[in-house]
Amino acid sequence: MEVLEEYGNDALARVFVAQMRREDPRSVVEFVESVQPPLSREEKWVIIVSSMFGCPIGCTMCDAGGNYAGPLTSQEILAQIDECVVRRYPDHRVPSRKFKVQFSRMGEPSLNPAVLEALRALPERFDAPGLIVSLSTTAPARAHGFFERLLRIKEEMYRDGRFQLQFSIHTTDLERRRTLIPAQTWTFEQMAEYGERFFEPRHGDRKVVLNFAPLIDHPIDPSKLKEHFDPGTFIVKLTPLNPTIRSMDHGMGSVLQHGRPETYKELVNALNEMGYEVIVSLGAEEENRIGSNCGQYVQRMLSEGRRPKDAYDVQRYRGQM
Ligand code: SF4
Repeated sequence: MEVLEEYGNDALARVFVAQMRREDPRSVVEFVESVQPPLSREEKWVIIVSSMFGCPIGCTMCDAGGNYAGPLTSQEILAQIDECVVRRYPDHRVPSRKFKVQFSRMGEPSLNPAVLEALRALPERFDAPGLIVSLSTTAPARAHGFFERLLRIKEEMYRDGRFQLQFSIHTTDLERRRTLIPAQTWTFEQMAEYGERFFEPRHGDRKVVLNFAPLIDHPIDPSKLKEHFDPGTFIVKLTPLNPTIRSMDHGMGSVLQHGRPETYKELVNALNEMGYEVIVSLGAEEENRIGSNCGQYVQRMLSEGRRPKDAYDVQRYRGQM
């Protein structure tokens, strides 16, 4: 693996763009390490890795879609984590109280079985008592076998709240969800049924997350959600729409805005009334600027030969600021 570019800073987040295979210029991924002030790195350290070169799903708000060039091997997935760990902790001892590894950057992780191998290898790889893993998925229907194996790995290796599963929902309007995520995915019933099996309170499991990046003209109906998802098993997370090039191309607007609680208060109240615990994950504005919590625009820039310094530069470049 060769790191081609780095963006960001140590105080918040750093994005790495790396070529994984010497002979293959398309084998480019990005991965991220970040902290969440005011927490120190010793309290919480987050690494976000890619599992594919591009992504075959092609969500309309995500720059990883298109240019799909195949899955990473488990060694290539682990190499991203190694790179972050060894830079800071060459002895492989990660002292962070929460050391969170997220499978949520480029690629739909459930379509790559190597993710399961990486999950199996991870606990032994470092001396990291704070290890927690998180996997975000659109729940493709054809990944049924992956999810069955994932369930077993969680039960065997990630008890006591060390696994967080997140379904990307975004809207309760099924037609619009299909436009946003142009793939055959599990129905809400299937997600709910799997979530019920996944969440075992007696093992100290975390509740399954239903993630929404609320978008203008994409309704979220809490009562519809409640028809399928039990608040005893599922929590709701609201995140702002990432500042990707594709989302700008599609004229997609985020309902959630930094520093404007009125943009999400009503929705949070309605979800609370249905019994859901709600996490509003706005992050820091600078984090968006660096790109640590946004879609894969660095990859897109590389593929188009554009390398503006950060998201604001991308927007200026495109005359949209
Ligand atoms: S949001 Fe996830 S599943 Fe959708 S195109 Fe991006 S990486 Fe793939």
